[in-house]
This record gives sequence, structure tokens and C-alpha cells, in this order.
Amino acid sequence: MSNDNLIETDVLVIGGGPAGLAFAIHYADLAGKNNLPLKILVLEKAATLGSHTLSGAVMNLKNIGQLLPGVDLNTIPTATQVKEEEILFLTKKKVFALPYHPKVMSNKGNHILSLGAMVRWLGGIAEQKGVEIFAGVAGYELIYENGKLVGVFTGASGLDHEGKPMSNYQPPTEVRAKIIILAEGARGHLTKRLIEKFDLAKDKNPQVYSLGVKELWEVPEALFAQGRIIHTLGFPLGADQFGGGFVYGLNKNQVVIGFCSGLDYSDPTFDPHGALQKYKTHPRIARIIKNGTLIKYGAKNIPEGGLYSLPQLYHDNFMIIGDSAGFVAMPSLKGIHIGIKAAMTAAKAAFEAIKSQDTSKDALSLYEKLFKETPEYRELYASRNFRQCFSSNLYLGFIKFGINQITGGRGLSLNGKSRLEADYQHCRPVSKINRLLPVVFDNKLTFDKEADVFYSGTKHDEEQPCHILIPNSDTCLDCIEKFAAPCQHFCPAKVFELSRDAQTHKSKIVLHPSNCIHCKTCDIKDPFQNVTWVPPYGADGPQYDNM
Ligand SMILES: Cc1cc2nc3c(=O)[nH]c(=O)nc-3n(C[C@H](O)[C@H](O)[C@H](O)COP(=O)(O)OP(=O)(O)OC[C@H]3O[C@@H](n4cnc5c(N)ncnc54)[C@H](O)[C@@H]3O)c2cc1C
Ligand code: SF4
Repeated sequence: MSNDNLIETDVLVIGGGPAGLAFAIHYADLAGKNNLPLKILVLEKAATLGSHTLSGAVMNLKNIGQLLPGVDLNTIPTATQVKEEEILFLTKKKVFALPYHPKVMSNKGNHILSLGAMVRWLGGIAEQKGVEIFAGVAGYELIYENGKLVGVFTGASGLDHEGKPMSNYQPPTEVRAKIIILAEGARGHLTKRLIEKFDLAKDKNPQVYSLGVKELWEVPEALFAQGRIIHTLGFPLGADQFGGGFVYGLNKNQVVIGFCSGLDYSDPTFDPHGALQKYKTHPRIARIIKNGTLIKYGAKNIPEGGLYSLPQLYHDNFMIIGDSAGFVAMPSLKGIHIGIKAAMTAAKAAFEAIKSQDTSKDALSLYEKLFKETPEYRELYASRNFRQCFSSNLYLGFIKFGINQITGGRGLSLNGKSRLEADYQHCRPVSKINRLLPVVFDNKLTFDKEADVFYSGTKHDEEQPCHILIPNSDTCLDCIEKFAAPCQHFCPAKVFELSRDAQTHKSKIVLHPSNCIHCKTCDIKDPFQNVTWVPPYGADGPQYDNM
């Protein structure tokens, strides 16, 4: 049923990334085969599918074959197959090839692609199967009835800065469904609230993240071969920080350069965007792009906690899939094929629940049961303590990782489960740190945040309530005093600016929300947990195309 402000459906998917679309496709197939009426709707906040999508991406295609058994895999919009790969350790000027290339990190048989292009392709297939997709529409607020989730409100539009309706006001739409699938990607804002409300992370490790900052370059032919991939450790990070760089050779002379910084760093002045800029000045990296042209910029978080950071995946009327749950295998940094497989098992559970008219948590627990039987679960299980190895020191981490490899992932902890702390708990007072990362921006090889934001294509309607919520401005003053405002450094889009109040001469934070590229780092890393990211108007945000 549908009128202007109410839509009712069987299944509502929040987020049209690879996980949400794989869910929708598999659900549509199951419904079609069993003559179940198909009523499924996908909401995607980006104006077009793929335009808020950012990944590496080197993908293991095996689960696409299972998702789309009849489809010729040559039609998948991959750029190229991986032809050669290296893992390097970089010092400031030198390069060392790692003597040992762990099998779990091998990309043999994988493909390099733009995940945005893949998502658009999946969206086309989903629509052919009868899935309704509303792009440019964000799931904004959760609706409960008798303590159970029954739907979401989309965002309103036509509000002024204070949230007051203007002449072009459009009210939110109420979307009700029997089952709601949270597929919002890393740190989904609705998923976060559901995990808190239903205590779904009880007895689990907190989720931890890396911020991946990425640029797409066009380079003269022959400077970096199509199908070549490099992963690096070391420079510009010190041994006390987890992270690394990647360089992937796409087709059409395009090269991906990215740097992932673990958000468990303790230096409040550390800047993940600056880390990528510094990375590009290393002689080995600079020579690849020095005569090239920057095409695109963006950043996004990766949930890295692994198996022990997965929340309970279901509750009455809803399931959590993809990066919203945290289905990323480390150390291979692969989430797409696991997200697709988990989405397929969730689709099976949803189909059985709709068929039997029982969408209770007991019925939906089938999702977790089925996922535990998959090779992807075993992949996560094998690396269940990986990220924990690297929570203090890189070299110690290598030793612990070696022990993990020998013990089948168990490591040295007595119960086989190593603990993690949330990223925001790691900040140390600025007085104890003195390690600023100096970067000179030359606008050829290195770009400051304003310049890079231009290349993200991000756009926001200026006339709307700020979508970066800071409930307590006094806490900001404490944060400035203790940590010198880490938000000005960790935000890769210069949304937070430290400025001096002309009257009081006190420092304060000024926000530029229209720069935001939706990476969610502020929601994760703020040491006082005083920042909450919510979606701006539907369709606002970055314009990534092929990231
Ligand atoms: C820098 C980087 C490199 C990576 N490299 C690799 C790699 O090489 N190989 C690999 O396999 N994996 C890689 N990953 C991980 C991989 O990209 C993710 O695991 C995968 O994209 C997860 O898919 P998803 O559908 O769960 O989430 P996403 O791809 O994030 O999609 C979520 C979608 O939901 C939308 N959305 C969010 N909130 C709402 C809302 N409230 N309402 C409506 N829509 C909403 C978003 O706009 C987005 O389109 C990488 C990730 C990053 C960031
Ligand atoms: S404001 Fe937050 S979500 Fe937006 S770009 Fe900055 S850190 Fe990322």
C-alpha cells in the first residue's frame, strides 16, 4: 500500500551497496521461484547507485557467480584481473620487499574494479527482477511499535538551519515493513542506534575502524601496469600505528592510490588525509604519479574488528548485513564477497520468515545459523584475532600474527579471544605527544583538504539543518584544551575548523558541513563521543562515480 506519506512493503533494505543489492537480488530470486509475491524496496541516500560508494577494490568474484548463476561473469564491470602483486615495507626513502607473502593476503585470481560501477550493474539486475529502488532517499529515523522496529521515516526536506519548515517543505515519508535490513555500510547511523537499543554488542569486542583515504589518478602509459597491485606497510606511519598504503593499476591508464590509517592511533594531531599526501611523496610512489593528473578524491571507513566485533546480527523484524555488521576479513582487507554471501543467507532467512509470517528474532536467527555454515564464516574465524595483534606495535604485531598463523588464528590468549578497545578510547593528551606530520602541498603531487574535497564532487544544499550533531558545545572546549581538537585533523574534508572567537578570544569549533564526504570518522573517533553523524538531505554528499 502506498500514499504520499506512507509506503508499506514486506521487506525494506536501507542502503544500496553491494550487500543491500545482493540481499535484494537473492530475495527476489527466492520469492520468484516459490511464487511468493515480491514486495521489496531499497532506499539509497546517494542520488544514483554507486555515487556514495568507495572501496579499493580488489574483489574475489566467487560469490557473484553464486548470486547470479545464469549471468555471464564476463559482463561484470571489472577493470582487470590481478596480474602481479607485491607487499613492500617502506622507510622514508627505501623499499624492502617482504620476504614472506602470507597465503591469506594473496590476490591470485581476484579482479580490480570500481565498486561504484559494480553497484550500478547490480542495481540494474535487481530492478529487472522487480526490486524497487529509491535513490536519493535516506532512511533517517527508526519507527517502533510495542518496542519492536516496524519501519523508518525518510528525511524531510525544505527546512531552514534551525529545522523550521520553509515554503518548499516536504514532510518525511513513513516506510513500514515486516522485515528491515540494515545495509548502511560502516558505522550506519540507524544500525548504531539499534545495536545500542537492543544491546546487540553485549559481550562482543567493540567495532574498530580504519579510515581509507583514496585518490584516483590518470598517469602516462607504462608508469604502472594494468593489473598490478602493491600493498605497503611502514612510511609514513611509525611502528606504533596500524595502517598501510595500496596502489592498483586499473585500465585506461588509471591508478588508484590509497592509504588506510587505523583509527586506534593515540596522537590527537594525526591526520589520515595528511598521511596519504605524505605517502605520495615517497620516491617509489611519487614516480608512479608525478606526471599524472588527479581525477577523484574520497574517504570511507572500514570495519576491521573481525568476527569478535560482529554484533548479534538479528532481532525482532530486522537483520544487519554487510559493513554495518562488520563483515570484513583482515588481513586481506576483503569485505565485498563476504558481505554478498552473508546477504544471501539473510535473504534466505527473510524469505522463510515472510513465507511463514513469523519475523520474530527466533525466526530470523536462521540468518546467523546459515552464515556459520559458510566458507566465509570460516574465513573470518581464521583471522578472528588479527586486528588485535596490531593494537600496540607493528613489529610485535608481526610476531603475534606469526603465532596466530601457526595456531589457526587462536594466538596466545588463554580463551582464544583477544580484546580490543574502541578507537575513541586511544587519544592521549596533546601535551604528551609531539609528532606533527608536516606536509607541503604543491597542488601537483600533494593537495590540501579543500583542494581534495573539490575532487570528491561533494555538494550539500546550504539551507538545511547541520547534519553533524554536537549536542554539548562545552565538551568541545574541554576537548580543545585536552586534545587540541583532533576533529580538525581526523576529518578528511575540513568540516571542523578551529577558530578564535573575536569577542571572547576563546577557541571554538566552526563547522563546514557542506564539505562532508560521509566517511563517519567524526562519529567514531571523537574522544568524548560528542559528535553524531546523521544523513543530510537525500542525494546530498560526494559524487564518486567510479571509486
Ligand atoms: C578504502 C577501502 C578499501 C577497500 N578495499 C577493499 C578491497 O580491495 N576488497 C574488498 O573486498 N573490500 C574492500 N573494502 C571493503 C568493501 O568496500 C566493503 O566491505 C563493502 O563496500 C561493504 O558493502 P556494504 O554494501 O555493506 O556497504 P557500502 O558499500 O558502504 O554501501 C552502503 C550503502 O548504503 C548507503 N546508506 C548508508 N546509510 C544510509 C541510509 N541511512 N539510508 C539510505 N542509504 C544509506 C550508502 O550511501 C551506501 O551506498 C574496502 C573499503 C574501503 C573503504
Ligand atoms: S564531518 Fe565527519 S563524516 Fe563528514 S567528512 Fe568529516 S569526519 Fe567524515
